[in-house]
Amino acid sequence: MNGFFKVPYPINEEVKAYTPNSPERKALLDTYKAMYSQKIEVPLYIGKQKVLTQTKKDMRPPHDHKHVLGQYQWAEKTHVEDAIKAALEAQQAWANLAWEQRAAVFLKAADLIATKYRNKINAATMLCQSKNVHQAEIDSACELADFFRFNVYYMTQIYAEQPTANSFGVWNRSEHRALEGFIYAVTPFNFTAIAGNLPGAPALMGNVVLWKPSDSQVYSAQVIMEIFEEAGLPSGVINMVTGDAIMTTEIALSHPDFAGLHFTGSTDIFKHLWKTIGNNINVYKNYPRIVGETGGKDFVLAHPTSNVDEVVTGLIRGSFEYQGQKCSASSRAYVPKSLWQAIKTKLQAELETVKMGSPEDPSHFINAVIHEGSFDKIVGFIERAKKDASCEIISGGTYDKSQGYFVAPTVIHTTNAHYESMVAEIFGPVLTIFVYEDADWTKTIDLVNKTSVYALTGAIFSNCRYALQEAVEGLTHAAGNLYLNDKSTGAVVGQQPFGGARASGTNDKAGSVLNLLRWVSPRTVKESLLSPNSYKYPYLG
Ligand code: NAD
Repeated sequence: MNGFFKVPYPINEEVKAYTPNSPERKALLDTYKAMYSQKIEVPLYIGKQKVLTQTKKDMRPPHDHKHVLGQYQWAEKTHVEDAIKAALEAQQAWANLAWEQRAAVFLKAADLIATKYRNKINAATMLCQSKNVHQAEIDSACELADFFRFNVYYMTQIYAEQPTANSFGVWNRSEHRALEGFIYAVTPFNFTAIAGNLPGAPALMGNVVLWKPSDSQVYSAQVIMEIFEEAGLPSGVINMVTGDAIMTTEIALSHPDFAGLHFTGSTDIFKHLWKTIGNNINVYKNYPRIVGETGGKDFVLAHPTSNVDEVVTGLIRGSFEYQGQKCSASSRAYVPKSLWQAIKTKLQAELETVKMGSPEDPSHFINAVIHEGSFDKIVGFIERAKKDASCEIISGGTYDKSQGYFVAPTVIHTTNAHYESMVAEIFGPVLTIFVYEDADWTKTIDLVNKTSVYALTGAIFSNCRYALQEAVEGLTHAAGNLYLNDKSTGAVVGQQPFGGARASGTNDKAGSVLNLLRWVSPRTVKESLLSPNSYKYPYLG
């Protein structure tokens, strides 16, 4: 096909409101109910095969953990090896397929998500990750469609990137090859969109992938595979294997054709994977690409000139939406003494109105945390705070796991700026607030900067331009996504490319050119149009 094709200019998928009595709300809740009472079996996707294994695990809604949604497979070693083999077999044909064909697969996947599969992928995310209608919509429908559409557009920008100069008689070209080998994508539970993007982005760039989703997200991962299949992704390009993370990783990272890691999850696991790659470096045919987006201890810093209502709204939405289980969720806040009483009163009053329960009832702002391990860890933080002399629980502090893993949004007021819940990632609905003397603004900026090893997101609230600038400068390396007078969450693909530095990741900004560049290896081609035919340069006389 001859033509420099232009892909559709990407536009963010419109977020549906799901207001009471709207047809979209009814359709989504009907899908949720229907899926709740079906039992499904999620296979391994290995090349053309959908494989069932001997050992299986149950999938249960975190808000209703006695109910079984279905089962998924627990892969054995040979399955992982077969999945890598299937990927490598698909490699050449996929890498050589014209880019517009690859683009069409992902554009179709995005359109399927936005239409036919919208309710299904949202309902799956509500059921297995306990997201309410709004959280499911902005993640699994909108962000995933955005990732695919924007990635296609950015891919064409990368391919258009060519050497700037050509000397007389020479034509220079750049080819943006896929990597040689397979990519290992390891994904977290908390965003269906991330789960789809981590295998999807390298595949779009012509790579083949072994994908290991989180045990707590398999149910919606299966919908992603269904969409890829219907969009025409050839078998073997993305192979999904569920099961023992350690065993799967050991096989993937000791394979000579391992070409790159696309990871999102916790910091310690990423460090462990990086070390393993380092130890195995002599095994590989190439230096593997390593991309990892990891933990956070995201902050809110309020200046004495900030608006109380805006700060409180930023805190409630930023800290408690999706039960604080967003890597970007604010979990430590710094509030000036002059505003503390007003902020505290308003925060307590607003949190009194927050409802918690199953996502099947859209009036629930808070749903369950992901699993028992997470519930117990969060409760540990709450119980220790109750006993610590430097802490007072000013809201929440209650929890119940009898039916679902429910933890009330909890606010701790501490007089110790380095108390454990100001420093460690909790990944739950717990916000800790430290009150500073108004005169200590400059010192507090430094405190925010130095308190945590993470640097993912942060929010500064201020109506003083001098203060705002001072904080923006003082916190240069404290966040990869900085919000001014806004909550710390809710990055939109193409608008606020997302990722952090320090212990929060390699900051390759998912859904941007920077990320896609990690999945290509350029080949420079110089062609002499007038090839020299004697070795004698003029200076030789
Ligand atoms: P997790 O680290 O527990 O799991 C992530 C993935 O790693 C899962 O697929 C898991 O099975 C796998 N895994 C677990 N142990 C492993 C091992 N020993 N070897 C190889 N793989 C292993 O994370 P999670 O609970 O699913 O997600 C929450 C974490 O992810 C938080 O720390 C959060 O901050 C982070 N996160 C970061 C971003 C970001 O963009 N920075 C986005 C989302 C989540």
